Amino acid sequence: MSSDRSGFTLDVQAHSLNGSTPHCEHLDALLPAPPLGTICRDCRTTGEDWVSLLTCLTCGWVACSNDSPHRHARAHYEETDHPLARALRAGPAWRWCYVHQRAV
Ligand SMILES: [Zn+2]
Ligand SMILES: [Zn+2]
Ligand SMILES: [Zn+2]
Repeated sequence: MSSDRSGFTLDVQAHSLNGSTPHCEHLDALLPAPPLGTICRDCRTTGEDWVSLLTCLTCGWVACSNDSPHRHARAHYEETDHPLARALRAGPAWRWCYVHQRAV
């Protein structure tokens, strides 16, 4: 009996059979919001440091990325379900989808 239904039901493997670019429907539905700042406010509040920053494409929230000690961008996703982020300093072509768990 497998009853681990706590997570999302994902369908990530069905799209990679022919080697085409992964499709992210989250990206299709989104009008990217401009970044709201240039710092991780959560880290700044506690005097912590970060390695690099991500900005949420849904609301523009800026937070530290997964290579930083506190991963506040991931915490933002877990709180809000906003699925997409991109590096604050990189161009718009690179986006991370937390639901698909890959760059899209
Ligand atoms: Zn996605
Ligand atoms: Zn942070
Ligand atoms: Zn957000």
